[in-house]
Amino acid sequence: MNCALVTGGSRGIGRAICVKLASMGYYVLVNYKGNETEAANTIALLKAAGGDGELLQFDVGKKEDIAQKLGAWLEAHPTKKIEVLVNNAGIKDDGLMVFMKDEQWEDVLHTSLDGFFYVTRQLLNHMLLNRYGRIINVVSLSGLKGMAGQTNYSAAKAGVIGATKALAQEIGRRGITVNAVAPGFIRTDMTEGLDEKELSNLIPVRRFGQPEEVAHAVGFLASREAAYITGETISVNGGLYS
Ligand code: NAP
Repeated sequence: MNCALVTGGSRGIGRAICVKLASMGYYVLVNYKGNETEAANTIALLKAAGGDGELLQFDVGKKEDIAQKLGAWLEAHPTKKIEVLVNNAGIKDDGLMVFMKDEQWEDVLHTSLDGFFYVTRQLLNHMLLNRYGRIINVVSLSGLKGMAGQTNYSAAKAGVIGATKALAQEIGRRGITVNAVAPGFIRTDMTEGLDEKELSNLIPVRRFGQPEEVAHAVGFLASREAAYITGETISVNGGLYS
């Protein structure tokens, strides 16, 4: 059974992606940072959907942690192939730039942008040797259009979009595609506390999206049939482009 690694698979969009990839036949490595209970719930859900997988805890912002835990997993399973990597883990810590603290800037950039780099680099050689791979980065509408109060988050996501395009050019000839999915407002813990009713007026489809709707786009890009799409960013935002 070929494997897929989903970072931040314990909740929200990442959880829906784990279930989707499991339903496509992948053995899913469910990464999380600290919420083991919810991560275990993701495993239960994907098993209920007829799939299988295991937990793989590490902090995407800590390269030593990744080298140790993901590196150890690869060494312990020399015959297994991780065909799909979904860089989904992310945090936000909003505030106007004039008031933004160093830690707010650094933490958000560290998780989304550095996390993408550390995890992907750890797996690249493995994918290059397999001459096959699907790398999908969960970015954001904020990274495409910029969002007031989110200079840190917008910069992190725009950074990942740039890296997606660059890496796609580096490894396309080895059968590895690199794409991004840019959600708008999706109903998860991250958007809890936002005024959904008010904000829905701005969205042509007039509602927040569901994690499964993002997972559907990820599943499409993860499919073998999506081999000729690379360096692309697909928006899943109910029509909210500006
Ligand atoms: P969420 O419900 O807050 O879940 C975040 C997930 O990321 C959790 O599984 C969390 O693990 C994990 N995580 C956070 N920091 C991590 C780290 N350093 N190492 C490993 N895992 C870490 O978020 P979400 O709404 O599903 O968002 C998922 C992705 O979609 C993020 O990249 C986010 O920026 C992006 N996005 C979301 C929206 C939206 O409207 N929700 C819109 C655009 C883009 P623990 O459970 O262990 O904490």
